[in-house]
Amino acid sequence: MGNVTKSKENLKKCICIKCPSYTFACKVKAIPGGIADMLKRDISEVEHMEGMFCAFGQSKCITDDKGCICGDCDVYKENNLDKFSYCTVLNGK
Ligand code: SF4
Ligand code: SF4
Repeated sequence: MGNVTKSKENLKKCICIKCPSYTFACKVKAIPGGIADMLKRDISEVEHMEGMFCAFGQSKCITDDKGCICGDCDVYKENNLDKFSYCTVLNGK
């Protein structure tokens, strides 16, 4: 699943929530166990969450690629990622 560390520091930098591909319906669905909840616990052992898809694998909700803003994200830059749309394709495309 790539080498992005599942850390709160990285999760705070993830900008997926601002992305057009992350639909309103998927945001609502992701609220329980969402980013706000995750920031309260140790996420290094968490299997999946609806965010930071470059670390946690593809989304269980987002299916349509409506543009990806990963390139503007610090996690993307700091980890030398070179793909996009980690939410729709495992390990990005
Ligand atoms: S690179 Fe993309 S998926 Fe990964 S943390 Fe940044 S915005 Fe989220
Ligand atoms: S991985 Fe890219 S396309 Fe998917 S929600 Fe995050 S920024 Fe948007």
